[in-house]
Amino acid sequence: MAKKLGKHTPYFELVEAQSQAGCPICRLVYKATDRYLDSILYEAVLDPDVRAKLKGARGFCAQHVKMLRNKPGRALGIALIYRDIIRSIAQEVAKGPPQAGGSFLGRLLGRRPTRREAASPVSCPACAIGRQAEENYVELLLAHLEDEKLYTAYAQGEGLCLPHLLLALERVPDEATRRRLLEPQLARYQAMLADLDEFIRKRDYRFRGESYGEEGDVWLRAMNAVVGGAGLGLSARSGGRPSLEEGGKHDG
Ligand SMILES: [Zn+2]
Ligand SMILES: [Zn+2]
Repeated sequence: MAKKLGKHTPYFELVEAQSQAGCPICRLVYKATDRYLDSILYEAVLDPDVRAKLKGARGFCAQHVKMLRNKPGRALGIALIYRDIIRSIAQEVAKGPPQAGGSFLGRLLGRRPTRREAASPVSCPACAIGRQAEENYVELLLAHLEDEKLYTAYAQGEGLCLPHLLLALERVPDEATRRRLLEPQLARYQAMLADLDEFIRKRDYRFRGESYGEEGDVWLRAMNAVVGGAGLGLSARSGGRPSLEEGGKHDG
């Protein structure tokens, strides 16, 4: 990013997210898509053009359908969006066996999507919002990592999941930023390895009598660290069990 990113709301969101459970980028992406789903459901009730676009995309992916399901008071928006989608699917199906290259069913049936199909609105619109948020927050993190406030919050936080660490490494602008990104992350991996060693040691029959300390759920945190996910804790402080998507703590 050529221009230095200013310190606006996203910067403070980014600082704040460091102190919460799980990868901060996953958490902020989740919040961005959550806000998007709220607004799109509201707009879909009022605006047929919004519904037409969602019909073109054939709604949302499984992950975002799950988020929609958990939203209270949005049933009408969902019913209106999916009435249009189901109606168009029924029309396609009624035409008989799909022809290759013809209807969208024909295009998608049993084949890998072509480039054109991949570029068409077949992909989930909430995922597109999430990808943009992911890029923005990773850029923001890198742009301000030399800032003491953000760096301290990052170094004391739970750190990044592997997918977001890799994205940050791809975008890292210089060697100093790379060091600031990686040093706390390596310390986290070392702490996790020590917890894994301790957990595995206590599984040995000779030490079965010993009770578990903070390493007790490290097997969950290790999986979270590799795959990522909003509110899936990476440190012993927050634990490895979901606190955002599944736990009902999310503030949407
Ligand atoms: Zn992440
Ligand atoms: Zn999606």
